[in-house]
Order: sequence, then C-alpha cells, then structure tokens
Amino acid sequence: MELAERLERLGTETAFAVSQAAADWADAGNRVYPFHLGDIDLATPANIVDAMNAAIAAGQTGYCPAAGIPALREALADDIGRGRGMQLTPGNIVVQSGGKPVITKFIQCLMNPGDGVLYPNPGYPIYESQIDYYGGRALPYRYHETETGFAIDLDQLRELAPSARLLVYNNLQNPLGCESTPEEMAEIARLAIEHDLTVLSDEAYFEMRYSGTSTSIASLPGLAERTVILYTFSKKFAMTGWRLGCAVAPVAIAEQIAKINTNDESCTTHFVQAAGVEALRDPSGAAPLLAELERRRDAAVAGLSAVPGLSCPTPEATFYLFPNVTEAVAGLGFDSVSDFATAALQQTGVSFCTRHHFGAAQPGETEQYIRLAYSGISIDDIDEGLGKLAAWVGAG
Ligand code: PLP
Repeated sequence: MELAERLERLGTETAFAVSQAAADWADAGNRVYPFHLGDIDLATPANIVDAMNAAIAAGQTGYCPAAGIPALREALADDIGRGRGMQLTPGNIVVQSGGKPVITKFIQCLMNPGDGVLYPNPGYPIYESQIDYYGGRALPYRYHETETGFAIDLDQLRELAPSARLLVYNNLQNPLGCESTPEEMAEIARLAIEHDLTVLSDEAYFEMRYSGTSTSIASLPGLAERTVILYTFSKKFAMTGWRLGCAVAPVAIAEQIAKINTNDESCTTHFVQAAGVEALRDPSGAAPLLAELERRRDAAVAGLSAVPGLSCPTPEATFYLFPNVTEAVAGLGFDSVSDFATAALQQTGVSFCTRHHFGAAQPGETEQYIRLAYSGISIDDIDEGLGKLAAWVGAG
C-alpha cells in the first residue's frame, strides 16, 4: 500500500514524544516531574460539567448546525467582542472542536500552494506542519531575548513580509510565554496592512494572564477585516479534553470555514457546546484556576532561579517558562540541549521540552533554551523536582 505523498510533509506536535519518554521512564519505576506538556491537571468548573450532563439528559445528542448552535455563537460574539473592544455578530463565529482546528481551516481557506506564510519560531509546531502539508512556503520569523522576556525580530519580519500572503501571530506566546509591547503589535499591524497580509491571531492564552490586560491585534484599525482569531475554552476553563473553541472571522471567511466543518466533522459535539454556553454565562470558575496557575508560576520561577547558570524572567501570561540554559548545558559538558534534557530526566526525573520541539533553530542561533509548562504539576512537585534539578546542575 502506498500512502499519499503529502503525508511526508505533515509534521506533528513533537512535545508528545517527550510525554512518551517520560511515561516510559515512569513505567520503569522512576519518579517523574512532568513539566513537558501544556495540559492542565485541574478540574473543569462544576457548573460547566453539570450543564453538559443536563444537555445530554435533555437529548442534545444529535447533529447540530455546522457553524455551531445559535446560543453559543451569540454568547461567543458577545464575550469575545466585549473582551477585545470589537463589534462581533454570530455570523463572525464558527464553533470548532478546540482551538487547533482553526489553524488548519485558516490555511485551507486562505493559502494557495506556493504562498508565503510568516509564523513564529520558536512557536507552536502545528503552524509549520499545516503550511507544509498544504504546499505553502514556510517563512519562520524569530525572536530575541530581552531583559524581560522575548521580542519579535522586526527587522527580519520587515525583510520577509513582502514575500508573504499570510501572517500567523501568537501574542501571549507558546512556548516563550512572552507578549508584544503595544509598539511591537502596532508595527506588525502596519506590516500586515502594507503588504496586504491576512492574519491568524492565535489567542489561545488571551485570558491566561496574571496582571494587566490583553489586546487583540484584530482590534487595531484596519485589522478586523483581515484577521481570523483562534479562540479556545481549553485553557481558561481547564477544558483541554472537551475540544471546544471557535474561529472569529469576517463573515465571508466564516462561511467558508463552516463549509469545511460540514465536510470534516459535520459539527462540534452538541452537548459540549451547551456546556460552553454555561461557561460563558457563569465564568466564575475560571478565577480560582488562574490563581492556582499563578502560585505555580511563582514556585517554578523561584525553583528555576536556584538552578546554577540558569536565567528566567517572570512571564505575566501563559503557563510556560522558557529559560536560557546555555551555561548549564555547557557546565555539565553536554554537546546539545537534547542530551541535557535526556540526562535531566534520568538523573532527576524532571521532564521538559527543549527549544527544538518548537521549530528548527534559525541560522546564527547559539543560545540554548528549554520549555517548562507548570499547568500539569502541583506546587509540591514543582518545588521537589526543581530542587533536584538545581542540585544536579550544581554538582556538575
Ligand atoms: N495555539 C496554541 C499557541 C497552543 O498552545 C494550543 C494548545 O496548546 C493551541 C493553539 C490549541 O488549543 P486547543 O487545545 O484548544 O486545540
């Protein structure tokens, strides 16, 4: 049997390979401190669970409209519009089974083979996978380290923008945990208009912030008509496995995304959508989740700052840390950050991703980084695991 050639271009979320290595290590009887996967080990708020059960009991178990049930589209238009200072209608909302499907549907709707697509590197690996799969021209843009986190290399972006048709922008960034200054976002918006780029604004972490307020690039002048927003319930309401999100798009694009839904999954699970309506009606369960994540962030930043040779600013958003480990890797005599990660798992049980799980290193990159997610690990385990990591690196 011969498989379709395009499958050779399909990537994956390589962080899942780290999960496998961690699971194998745990199965062999070892203690593992899981900092590798951006999943959340906290319970979905009870009112949302109850609403889903009530919807099943009420028989909301059949097919429903491809673009989503009207009550959810209305609630999303209202909630997302209010949070971003935008005027949205249900016609702008197409419900999806999670945030991730918005990436492939954006590419399918707006990219022709050969089109250039700008996307962040390091970045969420599915952008590149989908660009390659559908025959686009991958144009990764890089970040540089600053005092307080990371900033987009705007010179590189300006250089690449004339050869692009699409731009993927992930403010409140996975894996970097960083966000744009208003000036950086304004410059990206300016480039999008100047070069007539259509934008995917991945806002998976828009509400996952511990201070300040988020801004959507779609709310800047001239951007709403050229931007598709990726919205998800996954993080805010600890609903990663429920699979509920939506695309927010100009109506003409939204209609095409809905047509892809019809061809693909028909609709998002009806009773899960009913639970989504309840989540937006009473979102009070989200605050304790965020408070717990903030405590974990503080524990993780404190734990990392005790690791010799490691530096890590405190991000105000997401649940990721992306410390520079160049000195620690060299100090222990490793040639690569991958070897460092493998040894860390075997010597301390601390499991994490490296920079290489988020796109190939760009020319001239010399610093080494790892990514720690603190969404799936308790504070006690954060303290214990990072204590072991500090002792191991310190002894090296
Ligand atoms: N976009 C980014 C940047 C993410 O980190 C994730 C998940 O980790 C997603 C999209 C996908 O979210 P969902 O689980 O809702 O599909």
